[in-house]
Amino acid sequence: MPRLTDVMNDSWREVEVTGESIPHLLHWDLAYLWVLQKPRDLRPKTWENRVRAWKGLFARLLLGQLELSARAITDPLLSFTSPYGISSALELKSRGNVVGVSSPIVICRPLPDLDPAAQVDLTEIERHKSELSFCLQLLVGSLRSLTSSGDERQIQHVLLAVLESLLQEWGGLAGVSYQTEVRQTALLRSVSFADPTQQIGIDQVELHISKGLESKTYVPRCRECDGLLTRKDDDPQVEVEERFVIQCPKCSVDNEIDLARLFLWQRTSHEMIHWTERRGDLFATDPTDQYPPAYTLSVQGQFIRFEWAPADVGNSPSRFLSIKFKDRTVAAKSFRSDAMYDHLLVKGGAHQHFSGLPIRHEFSCSVRNKGNIKARPDSLVFGPIQLAGLPFRIEVTRGTLSVTVHVPFPNCLDKT
Ligand SMILES: [Zn+2]
Repeated sequence: MPRLTDVMNDSWREVEVTGESIPHLLHWDLAYLWVLQKPRDLRPKTWENRVRAWKGLFARLLLGQLELSARAITDPLLSFTSPYGISSALELKSRGNVVGVSSPIVICRPLPDLDPAAQVDLTEIERHKSELSFCLQLLVGSLRSLTSSGDERQIQHVLLAVLESLLQEWGGLAGVSYQTEVRQTALLRSVSFADPTQQIGIDQVELHISKGLESKTYVPRCRECDGLLTRKDDDPQVEVEERFVIQCPKCSVDNEIDLARLFLWQRTSHEMIHWTERRGDLFATDPTDQYPPAYTLSVQGQFIRFEWAPADVGNSPSRFLSIKFKDRTVAAKSFRSDAMYDHLLVKGGAHQHFSGLPIRHEFSCSVRNKGNIKARPDSLVFGPIQLAGLPFRIEVTRGTLSVTVHVPFPNCLDKT
């Protein structure tokens, strides 16, 4: 008679595995985890379609293509799930039909009555690999930090291995960032077969569901290996000489950075201007191939320091960049003209004849393209204006004030 470990590690290609083979309330979830963790060529043949269905469902969940509706678990089932801290489940719906449920073990899973012969269409995965990889790498990052704590987290360790392998399959680290909506999802640490009622830990993990829009946050990446050029919080600063070049920490290739991507404008050979304007009403035009900047932490003397949001760098700790410019000082400046902050005084004449620009006079040499001025009954629209050191064009709307001057003594002006 073979030993149990031999049986477990052997090929299950020809073996029928049903959820009920595992005597547990979460049997289907556990069956999926068990099959998914097996190398592809050892998985039961009868599960091939279920595995495809799981991947397809998971992908559609991450792509935001499913409607999620919470459903409370009621008695008598609640008495079985409450020891695990589970009191509700999410129904995953497509066009109103339930196609799966949330799972505290494998994130989500198809329904048990899935037709094993049904054609599962995975073309969506091919079309959205970069988006999927981005969402998945954030989940993998959260799971890695959970499982590094050293506590008993048997299920999460196995799931992490499954998701890491899926990330490879989907193309690995995404080169671009996407906007996501965050949902908390519960993941069990382990389950006990001996005593299913014993108190077992559960963790909440952030599931990033893509909102489909590519985030325009600019993150400096290596042109050669696509690695992050950003650094860890306590890494030494990057020294920049004449050209703005950052060496890749991974492959040592030099990368020339477009100053405007970081809102920097080299005004003179010894002076850098860092624009303080950020997104908002000012950036009414925002061409799709351009990017808003990182957060600026500090600007002082020759130094400038940036910080990115964790989601922009795939939860990597390398989300900072401290730069020291050789022989140049950096100053944070606003190009907004206070005089025209809210309203514009048009002194005589028609609005459309106004030819000024809504930026400070001292920065007029940064103007690369003035755009047009469009006159509306109560406002003027400037733009789109291209300024040096800005990654996109701006369009500014200013209200106009009509001023009526009452002259109480009509002749006094003539007399003076
Ligand atoms: Zn590189």
